[in-house]
Amino acid sequence: MTSLVDRFGRVHRDLRVSLTDRCNLRCTYCMPAEGLDWAPTPDLLTADEIVRLVGLATDLGITEVRLTGGEPLIRPDIVDIVARLAALPRAPRLSATTNGLRLAALARPLADAGLQRVNVSCDTLSRETFRRLTLRDRLDDVLAGIQAAREAGLAPVKVNSVLMRGVNDAEAGHLLRWALDQGLQLRFIEQMPLDPQHSWNRATMVSRAEILDQLERAGFHLAPVPARGSAPAELFVVDGGPSVVGVVGSVSQPFCDACDRVRLTADGQWRSCLFARAESDLRGLIRAGADDAALAAAMVGEVARKQRGHGIDEPFFVQPQRPMSAIGG
Ligand code: SAM
Repeated sequence: MTSLVDRFGRVHRDLRVSLTDRCNLRCTYCMPAEGLDWAPTPDLLTADEIVRLVGLATDLGITEVRLTGGEPLIRPDIVDIVARLAALPRAPRLSATTNGLRLAALARPLADAGLQRVNVSCDTLSRETFRRLTLRDRLDDVLAGIQAAREAGLAPVKVNSVLMRGVNDAEAGHLLRWALDQGLQLRFIEQMPLDPQHSWNRATMVSRAEILDQLERAGFHLAPVPARGSAPAELFVVDGGPSVVGVVGSVSQPFCDACDRVRLTADGQWRSCLFARAESDLRGLIRAGADDAALAAAMVGEVARKQRGHGIDEPFFVQPQRPMSAIGG
């Protein structure tokens, strides 16, 4: 069987599937207040198209599928999509990245349909900071969503936090104390140059080193966990364990050499990297009547062309046209 291997021998097993480019929050680092030019609905992959493409990807060796967006839980057919992916002959492990707003209502149906885990994004525990950061007063809904995910057994519930200077960068210790108390696995993510405003600045980014320093100054003892594999997060045992905290240093400590991820955007483009400047138009192929062999060949070909690294620190680096929310975070 052909598989998703690139020129550098990296075997791809992890597929991020974006279900929509729309979102019900307006995190200022991700989306302007008025939203973006959303993909017209007919351009989005249908549930049938998603299930067919993910099925083919599992034939090519994909074993992990993470549903994302935009906000994947605003897609009306999300439970049906999960159930159909869970019923594939080579069913992948299924997870979702969500802002949690709709989790209180959907955690149980999603778990029953076959979703196994969730990552919930939460950058602050202050209601006022949350409102300023997301332009919506919905922190209580996120916290209720996290609780519902735990009760539905979507474990371990991971929480993603992006720290931004002058906004929530003093909250690292507070977020970790809360996560430990709640039995959640917290992961801090360095902000990447994927904002639509193109205002990302390497010099003001809150770095991995700074996050670790802040946690240690807050009194936590952190011991690195050596085996990382292809996981983006570097894990640290907190205060002797068993709890761990993760730091995703995508910019300052890239992990491209071990990357096993590939992406399908909500409008059906197959990308080998968040920072790729090329895509393969699977929606165009499917709607032109392509057979499975042609679709698989397009997937294999795009992965084969994958660049060695994201190149953020290279002099020729150009930020991708699409922002994070339109690729799938
Ligand atoms: N709406 C879902 C959510 O909130 O988790 C899924 C999509 S969102 C784009 C996925 C994750 O990407 C969130 O944790 C968000 O904070 C993060 N994110 C957005 N823009 C980012 C950036 N420029 N750099 C790093 N992470 C970013």
